[in-house]
Amino acid sequence: MWTLVLNCGSSSVKFALQNPETGEGRLSGLAERLGSGAASVRVDRGGERVTHSLPGGSYPEAFGVILAELDALGVRDDVRAVGHRVVHGGERFSAPALVTPEVLDAIRACVPLAPLHNPANLAGIEAARAAFPALPHVAVFDTAFHQTMPEVAYRYAVPEAWYAAHGVRRYGFHGTSHAYVAGEAARMLGRDLGDVNLITAHLGNGCSVTAVRGGRSVDTSMGLTPLEGVVMGTRSGDVDPGLHDFLARQAGLSLGEITAALNKEGGLLGLSGLTNDMRELEEASARGHVGARLAVDVFVYRLARTVAGMTAALERLDGLVFTGGIGENSASVRAATLARLAVLGFRVDEEANARAVRGQSGVITAQGSPPALVVNTNEELMIARETAGVVERGA
Ligand code: ADP
Repeated sequence: MWTLVLNCGSSSVKFALQNPETGEGRLSGLAERLGSGAASVRVDRGGERVTHSLPGGSYPEAFGVILAELDALGVRDDVRAVGHRVVHGGERFSAPALVTPEVLDAIRACVPLAPLHNPANLAGIEAARAAFPALPHVAVFDTAFHQTMPEVAYRYAVPEAWYAAHGVRRYGFHGTSHAYVAGEAARMLGRDLGDVNLITAHLGNGCSVTAVRGGRSVDTSMGLTPLEGVVMGTRSGDVDPGLHDFLARQAGLSLGEITAALNKEGGLLGLSGLTNDMRELEEASARGHVGARLAVDVFVYRLARTVAGMTAALERLDGLVFTGGIGENSASVRAATLARLAVLGFRVDEEANARAVRGQSGVITAQGSPPALVVNTNEELMIARETAGVVERGA
């Protein structure tokens, strides 16, 4: 019983074959540079890696390679469903949905909220339905987990008409990852998810922090778009809302230019002038690179400030979870963040923290401290589970 998990971007398809019951993965890979003459697909057959070129550079061609790989493994007939990652489900989707013409229309209606991502997700779903016509397809939304946020958390203090007419509110993203690691953290703490209050920090190229009360998201740092919140690889996170007007007047930049720079030239890259990659920044900082040190320090400070702010959404804090490439691997970012959070009682266990890298999870705080944990995220497995759940319920 396998689920094929697809994450279709405008020029890429990330795929994974997952068993939602056992958590086993058989096949994964990434098709890149679709739409260009240099398109290729990298396949990981569970250790053995191969790369095929895709001369046509199209989605159907990429799916053709995936089908051939499923045949080669002899598992094509054991695939029961296809689960699609979809970025924005607006207020319409608080749960994953079986793909129907109505659901496709509703995803299309969310395009203004995610003009880059949702069209690519839609194109991917349509191509995948053509490639796998006999299978049920399920859309799993990045925003859905956060639909439980109360109004005080999701409303901006802006004219009400903007919300009513245009849906200007906070939605949040990375929901699949926050939901998954909250469940795993509860299990690792030996607690019922319904009884624990957690703060989860997903720190990859994109970064967000979520307050999870009893398994439900009650606040998150990303907002209308994934630009809000903490410092990220190339995204600025929070800036003064007056910045656009100021830069338009002072530097003659257009709205589009400012938005592109905040998304692609800000964050760790912008601050350091060097790279968006945390590992490289830590190495450069150790060699004395001033910009790299500043980038890491601002990243940590704003992260700690956001975590502390999230406690306003909880009556108690039972655990702080680090995940994503940085959260799972950077012992120094975790230690520095916990040091900034000493006011909440956090005290790192240096040895446990140093051990929790490269796939090792666990509690990284000393006796007497509220627990902080490293949990490895697995969005593909979570999407496979959600997909299987929808198919079993038949809705
Ligand atoms: P994405 O959001 O694209 O999935 P990842 O979750 O893989 O990204 O996170 C990428 C980030 O994780 C990069 O900034 C990378 O430098 C960082 N990272 C990975 N390994 C380490 C490490 N050993 N030390 C510090 N940072 C690391």
